[in-house]
Amino acid sequence: MSLRLGCIADDYTGASDLANVLSRNGLRTVQTVGIPKPSLLLPEVDAVVVSLKSRSIEAGRAVSLSLEAEQWLRGRGAGHVLFKICSTFDSTDAGNIGPVIDALRERAGAGPVLVNPAFPETGRSVFQGYLFVNGVPLHESPLKDHPLNPMRDSNLVRVLQRQSRSPVRLIPFATVEAGAEAVRDALAAMPDAGAAIADAVAARHLDVLGQAALAGPLSAGASGLGAGLARALVARDGIAPQASAPDTTRRDRSAGRSAILAGSCSTATRQQIAAAEAAGIPSCRLDVRRLLEGGAGAVVAETLRWTAERLGAGPVLVASSDAPEAVQAMQRSHGGAAAGHAVEQALAAIAEGLLAAGVDRLVVAGGETSGAVVDRLGLEAFLVGEEIAPGVPVLRTAGARHPELSVALKSGNFGGEDFFTRALSMLG
Ligand code: ADP
Repeated sequence: MSLRLGCIADDYTGASDLANVLSRNGLRTVQTVGIPKPSLLLPEVDAVVVSLKSRSIEAGRAVSLSLEAEQWLRGRGAGHVLFKICSTFDSTDAGNIGPVIDALRERAGAGPVLVNPAFPETGRSVFQGYLFVNGVPLHESPLKDHPLNPMRDSNLVRVLQRQSRSPVRLIPFATVEAGAEAVRDALAAMPDAGAAIADAVAARHLDVLGQAALAGPLSAGASGLGAGLARALVARDGIAPQASAPDTTRRDRSAGRSAILAGSCSTATRQQIAAAEAAGIPSCRLDVRRLLEGGAGAVVAETLRWTAERLGAGPVLVASSDAPEAVQAMQRSHGGAAAGHAVEQALAAIAEGLLAAGVDRLVVAGGETSGAVVDRLGLEAFLVGEEIAPGVPVLRTAGARHPELSVALKSGNFGGEDFFTRALSMLG
């Protein structure tokens, strides 16, 4: 197996979003969970997305995991590696985007790294270095209240500079409009820079950036840049359209049970929960205060009893999601990271119990939440199937653990109001 493209994703939902985009744009793609073990047999593919859970961990650990993933990918022939970050540039002044880019660049002996988180089809665009989310600047968007990394500055050159050892520059709109060669020339003209934020407001800009990035060994961006890279590779290598998408249909469609777990507190997810409840799906809201005050075991056990009584009749929904004021109150009393971790672990334990109770279709909302669930279940890799909503494919487990499981891992703010019912119907 010789890879055309290697990707390191800093969270699991972002990884499946990217894997979905690569496969839609013509690359046969597998998403692995963590750095693959030597025993994992992978099919012949063009791209591998190694999913890490490195977005919100200590920067040094994020760097070492990313370097290990890079080594695995280069060892399989990847000429270009994309460091996949969130399209809303989720990070803090401590990292982890800057430290990981610095380390990967030094390892690859590369010049300035092209960085672009735009994904116009999901409303993320970058203009003059400023990131817009559905038409509003990042710092005015709901991301300003994110539980783990509130984004209060929309200027990505400034944001990345605060996290980076080397100068961060801008490749402005006019240069991107002028084409791939102009972007390459601009990068070559800033040899002292460690990274350059590039503008992009439309898919054609991502094509330009994909072509420009392929000239070097490394880039960083969201799934939009992934699409640009995939299209540039398909054109460069004359890749024929895929004969068929991998079959992600479950073999036994008769007996399974299904469940939704929501740990995202995003506006979109809270609307989706309300819509699922209005559609008649029974829901259980976790008592987060009790969970954080030493009652996690009891909350998990009670929730699993509640789900066991209902699973036979149809899907169930379990959510910790709450409004920003309630989340902030919890964070003030218990600490943001500790509260987040405890809630994630409770939802992961509930996922484990649900599988033991026969669930074989699982929808998870929240990036960190999905990471915790996938880790707890010990899932190794996924085949990427049909798209449920932009950025969210149906995933079928590959590897020995839980071979009959269909999952959807949704980044908090992805999907329309009917996402949960739509996902359940598409999971089989
Ligand atoms: P998103 O994709 O929207 O960013 P994540 O799952 O990545 O969602 O992040 C949400 C974080 O908020 C997680 O760490 C989760 O455990 C935490 N969380 C969920 N519900 C609550 C709550 N009620 N109070 C405090 N923190 C919460």
